[in-house]
Amino acid sequence: MTVAASTAALGTSAAFAQAMVDEKDAQAAALGYVADAKRVDAKKFPKFAAGQSCGNCALYQGKAGDKAGGCPLFAGKQVAAAGWCSAWAKKA
Ligand code: SF4
Repeated sequence: MTVAASTAALGTSAAFAQAMVDEKDAQAAALGYVADAKRVDAKKFPKFAAGQSCGNCALYQGKAGDKAGGCPLFAGKQVAAAGWCSAWAKKA
């Protein structure tokens, strides 16, 4: 928990210095990342369920209320809290 907390703090302090992930980036395209979960292709990603977003993903490093935050799958960039990708995992 301590590691997660300090990682989140780091992510927050760098929030405005880091670029947002572009959906067209190779890694983003490979994972099916979209900046707005409303645009997830449900046919392509049948496991997607409404309500899932980066903001409630186990890998998301932003704080509650942040519009964007870090994600270990996109090192050095920020994902939108409202975004989604196929690696989404339920926050414990
Ligand atoms: S792993 Fe989670 S936080 Fe990272 S881009 Fe995918 S849904 Fe968003």
